[in-house]
Amino acid sequence: MILHVANLGHPVLRQTAASVSDEELKSARFQAFCDDLIESMRFHDGVGLAAPQVFVSSRVVAVWVPSGMDDEKDAGLESAVYVNPEIELFGEAEELGWEGCLSLKDLRGLVPRHQKARLRALDRHGKPMELELEGFVARVFQHELDHLNGVVFVDRMDDMDSLCFSAELERHGEEEDDDEA
Ligand code: ZN
Repeated sequence: MILHVANLGHPVLRQTAASVSDEELKSARFQAFCDDLIESMRFHDGVGLAAPQVFVSSRVVAVWVPSGMDDEKDAGLESAVYVNPEIELFGEAEELGWEGCLSLKDLRGLVPRHQKARLRALDRHGKPMELELEGFVARVFQHELDHLNGVVFVDRMDDMDSLCFSAELERHGEEEDDDEA
């Protein structure tokens, strides 16, 4: 089922999402939600979608990074759901990159992020997993996990001059990917 996306201004995007319990993880309802979250991310052309963006205040994100998005060597990441994710960030948040968000439709801005990070999460069946993240994939997870804490990418920008509509960026800016998360 394709889920509607909450736009900035809806309170759910500013809430701290609740952890998913073991009991909830085992429910058929939760598994159906995981399917819907992935399906909705793909339908809306996102590289990520966090549960609060579909009006569910739970610590769940879907991520899908096609190969070659960061650079040609980059293998990408199959679409999957990450439950109760925690991120460990390395170095400084100083790598600037363009971001967009399905909840701030068509807006783009330059956001400083950590280049490297480590993710610990449960998969959709509750199995613990760990991922080393770098570059664009690390950026996507930082963006998605922010949604679980009521933070959106514009909050992370330190220079608002780059905030623009994607069509204008295409007209006047450098060539950039058109991805939202
Ligand atoms: Zn977003």
